[in-house]
Amino acid sequence: MNITAPIGDTLSLIGNTPLVRLSGPSEAAGCDIWGKCEFANPGSSVKDRAALWMIRDAEERGELRPAGTVIEGTAGNTGIGIALVANALGYRTVIVMPDNQSKEKMDTLRALGAELVLVPPTKYADPNHFQHVSRRMAEETEGAIWAGQFDNIANRKAHIEGTAQELWHQTEGRIDGFTCAAGTGGTIAGVGMGLKEKNSEIRIALTDPHGAALYNYFAHGELKAEGSSVAEGIGQGRITANLEGAPIDTQFRISDEEGLVWVERLLRGEGLCLGLSSGINVAGAIELGRQLVSEGRENPQVATILCDTGFRYLSTLYNAEWLRSKGLPVFDWLERGDAAR
Ligand code: PMP
Repeated sequence: MNITAPIGDTLSLIGNTPLVRLSGPSEAAGCDIWGKCEFANPGSSVKDRAALWMIRDAEERGELRPAGTVIEGTAGNTGIGIALVANALGYRTVIVMPDNQSKEKMDTLRALGAELVLVPPTKYADPNHFQHVSRRMAEETEGAIWAGQFDNIANRKAHIEGTAQELWHQTEGRIDGFTCAAGTGGTIAGVGMGLKEKNSEIRIALTDPHGAALYNYFAHGELKAEGSSVAEGIGQGRITANLEGAPIDTQFRISDEEGLVWVERLLRGEGLCLGLSSGINVAGAIELGRQLVSEGRENPQVATILCDTGFRYLSTLYNAEWLRSKGLPVFDWLERGDAAR
């Protein structure tokens, strides 16, 4: 057996994710569509990057000291990333989340050693909203920091210094366009800023799900949401600090149904099991590819983000009953599985 030299500590496993050519989407767009495999991070999502950068930034500013505590209000991937990074660096993790979130998410966070504080769901303006509760807890806890991913720009810095540089090198500087959806906006803003520094001609497109307000903001200057989406982790109603100054050239709005078409085709045709935000991103990348082709660019190279693993959604996206309850089409192999039971 050939045992190669070690490449560093476990945190060096975050980032430097593979970039793969997606053949179905490339065929549909008429040009090369590339997917950045963020599900290959140790926490299986793009948010490991933000978790690492926010924690390192708090250390550098002297706010987070040995054996300190990282507190965040989040139900999803950011909590998982924070718990893993905090474990590796000897910090405690406290996650505040609404008590209506899936049991799987609670079980995952508990399994990783995070302490969970459950609060009743309420609107953002209510001081008992989970984000405000987590901020107050951090203020009142000795040796604790609040990660604050929405307005903490160490989040987008992870993508300026990491994801964007990787995309530039992996495409040998040939990238023509990039698109993804926004949750905090850290990914779209950070990758956009990092790539524009390399070449200001690279087209940056926001892909917005229904129910989010950013499509109308970038198209018409008005924060206005229409429709709804069941996609987790994306869909923003305000300009977060991470989104301020994001170099967005154009925007697309993609429905859950369109996103699901690509979740299905990527699984059945290319062996990738992904979450719905990845499907929505791929549908947006196809739109961007077609736009660049229609302007006469020869085989434009377009990249997007494959945000997280589909294994995180076995009881939702990959469950026939759940899909039916949301009025969404059921993948035919799930229908067949039901019939056989
Ligand atoms: N997809 C998923 C599944 C996510 O959890 C997130 C993070 N909220 C995003 C996409 C969007 O990333 P960002 O917060 O960088 O906008």
